[in-house]
Amino acid sequence: MRKREAMVMSRQQQQYIHTTHESFICSHCGRAVTPTANGTSNRNHCPYCLYSRHMDIRPGDRRSGCRGLMEPIGIWVQRNKEWSIIHRCTACGFIRTNRIAGDDDENTLLRLAAHPLSALPFPMRLGQESTV
Ligand SMILES: [Zn+2]
Ligand SMILES: [Zn+2]
Repeated sequence: MRKREAMVMSRQQQQYIHTTHESFICSHCGRAVTPTANGTSNRNHCPYCLYSRHMDIRPGDRRSGCRGLMEPIGIWVQRNKEWSIIHRCTACGFIRTNRIAGDDDENTLLRLAAHPLSALPFPMRLGQESTV
């Protein structure tokens, strides 16, 4: 490949990386998060602790001025059994959901999903028919 073409291409790639595939240091657990992930095209949360950052007004637009840390507060299971993480901004309270990524830590996901069961606000009554 000629040199000029290579330069043009690398500039395009850089811009691409900058807009949709940023690598970052997680401000919750401090680990470096690389942009590549299995089964996801838009890395928007840390695969280790699942924290995110309040960057977007609409998904992917990076237009929010908040930049608050978004805590994973639960799991939302969609009809096709796909999991999404519910994130809540610790700075402004904004809530949104994000699809899980292929390399998200499974133990952290399970702990998040099981958390409500470990903190029941009523006595557990197993084996009774629900009237709902
Ligand atoms: Zn993290
Ligand atoms: Zn926020």
